[in-house]
Amino acid sequence: MSLVTLSDVLQPALSGGYAVAGLVALGWEDMRAYVAAAEAENVPVILQAGPACRAHTPLPVLGKMFQHLAEAAPVPVVAHLDHGYTLDECRMALDCGFTSLMYDGSRKPLNQNIDETAQIAELAHAYGISCEGEIGFVGYSGGESSAGTDPQDAARFAQETGVDAVAVSVGNVHLQQNREGGLDEARIRAIEALSDIPLVIHGGSGVPDAQRTALARESAICKFNIGTELRMVFGTALREAVNSDPDRFDRVQILKDTHDPLVHAARRVLRGLKPA
Ligand SMILES: [Zn+2]
Repeated sequence: MSLVTLSDVLQPALSGGYAVAGLVALGWEDMRAYVAAAEAENVPVILQAGPACRAHTPLPVLGKMFQHLAEAAPVPVVAHLDHGYTLDECRMALDCGFTSLMYDGSRKPLNQNIDETAQIAELAHAYGISCEGEIGFVGYSGGESSAGTDPQDAARFAQETGVDAVAVSVGNVHLQQNREGGLDEARIRAIEALSDIPLVIHGGSGVPDAQRTALARESAICKFNIGTELRMVFGTALREAVNSDPDRFDRVQILKDTHDPLVHAARRVLRGLKPA
C-alpha cells in the first residue's frame, strides 16, 4: 500500500490499546528487515530517518526507499523525519515524500518551541501529513541530561501547536544500551490527565520489556522509538558475518547474514507493543 501518515497509525493505537514502533533506520538493510518484521507480525511500522541516517544518505534517496518498501508491503508504513531541527529540513522531507515530520524544538524556550512547532504542524497539515513535537527534553546516555516534561506545559503545547503526537521526557534517555531504566508512570498519568494527544517515547530501547508492553496497552503512549537495541543486533550480526569467513569480501554476501537476526529482533520489539 502507499505510505500512510503518523496520525493514520497512532489514532487507532490510542483507541485500540496498543503502540506502534518507530524503528530507527540507518540504511537499506535495516529498513527492509523492519518492514519484513512488520509484515510477519501483521502490524503497522514507522520507519524513521534521524540525523545520523540523513548525514549518511540524502533525504531524497531515503524518501524513495521508504516509499518503495511501503508500496510492496501489506501493512501500513509511515515515512517519518526524526529530529528535524529547521523549517528547511522539514520542508525538504515533505518534498521527498515523507508522511510525518518531527520538529524538535525541545532545546528552545517554551514559547519559541510552541511557535516554531505550530508552524511545522501547519505546513504538514496543509499537505495532508502529520507532525510530532517534543516538550521537555529527552537527554542522551553519556551526554546532555534530561528535563522532565511538565504536564501543564504538555497540555498547552498540544493545544497551541496542533501537533498529532507529543514526545515527552518521563525518565527516558536516548542511546541506552541496557534496559535497567524505567519510565516515571506518575508523570505519564499526570500528562494524560490534562490532554488526549498520543504520546511518544524516544529512547525506547532503555525501557524494560514488561513496562513497554503494559504502557502500550494501558496508557496514551502510542509510539515507542527503538534504535539502539536493534543497532546492537545489526552490529553483532555484521561482526560475526565478517569474521566467519576471512576469504569473503563481497559486501552483499556479508550483509545478507544480518537480515534474519535483525528481522527476529524487530519482531520481538513489535510483538511487545501489540494489544492484549
Ligand atoms: Zn529522539
